[in-house]
Amino acid sequence: MILKNLAKPLPLQKLDAAIPRLLPQFPALSKMKDDAAKRQLGLTGEKKVNYFIDNLAQMYTILHDVYLRINGKSFQIDSLVIANHSISIVDTKNYKGTITFNTTLKQLTRDDGKLESGFEYPITQVDNQKFHLQNWLTQHNLAHIPVNCYIAIADPSTIVKVKGDEEEISKVVVHGAEIHNRILASDRDFGRKGAKKLQNYQIGKSVLRECREFDIDMLKAYGIQPSDILPGVICPDCGLRGMERVYNGWVCRKCKRFSRNAHIDIADYLLFNDVITNSKCMWFLGLPTRGTATRILKKSGLVYDEKHRCWRKK
Ligand SMILES: [Zn+2]
Repeated sequence: MILKNLAKPLPLQKLDAAIPRLLPQFPALSKMKDDAAKRQLGLTGEKKVNYFIDNLAQMYTILHDVYLRINGKSFQIDSLVIANHSISIVDTKNYKGTITFNTTLKQLTRDDGKLESGFEYPITQVDNQKFHLQNWLTQHNLAHIPVNCYIAIADPSTIVKVKGDEEEISKVVVHGAEIHNRILASDRDFGRKGAKKLQNYQIGKSVLRECREFDIDMLKAYGIQPSDILPGVICPDCGLRGMERVYNGWVCRKCKRFSRNAHIDIADYLLFNDVITNSKCMWFLGLPTRGTATRILKKSGLVYDEKHRCWRKK
């Protein structure tokens, strides 16, 4: 069973909402665009690999995008597969070109045909995730469970090379399309060796109960204040900010597209503010009257806080 699906992560939601709403000269704008592209690439890679991991959903318990805290430290795991006798951590990497694992220098380099660049060593990353997960399991009286780590390569055209110990890398690094077979084979092996049968659904539920949502501090990371987020309904076709209010919707001044997407823009506002008031809604959507704002807020799925006279998420 899949207990937790992969959703668009909050940092990417915030970046995508902020980028079209900042002034073109905002200092961190180009860094934000780069980061959003990297996060989107990562998300696309995870979706590709999850397609194969989810083949195991009938037999095992699966949680995607797990974010836990142990001893004051947080750790994130792309996918957690709780099988019959073991748990597997899957970390997805989405690289174009040729990647080389250097087992002596503990270094990963990527050559995309134009440029060679270095990355944090993925083996060290998954070893750290394993260390934290084992601590978490110990704290939940589940220390006996064997934990495996895999690095899944999302793009089938990525060429994987090894400098040094090829066997060490081949135990951990797998092409995405092979991931479910590797987990299955390894778990069966643990079973044959007499590992205890796990209550995988119950363990999954315990993990789910403690899952948090990963977020970033936008002020710290990019210097964004909520007041930097500019108002206006954004055209879903051409991206122009400031669609014009017409009866029952908005029209784009540039491409003439009609849209009723105000709820999306309210959601953008609420990524940077805890609540929205009627007057902020008028300002943000460019509405002429309080009545229109109230009507839109009522339809937006938010709840009204009588005491503070504002609207917030359920
Ligand atoms: Zn438009």
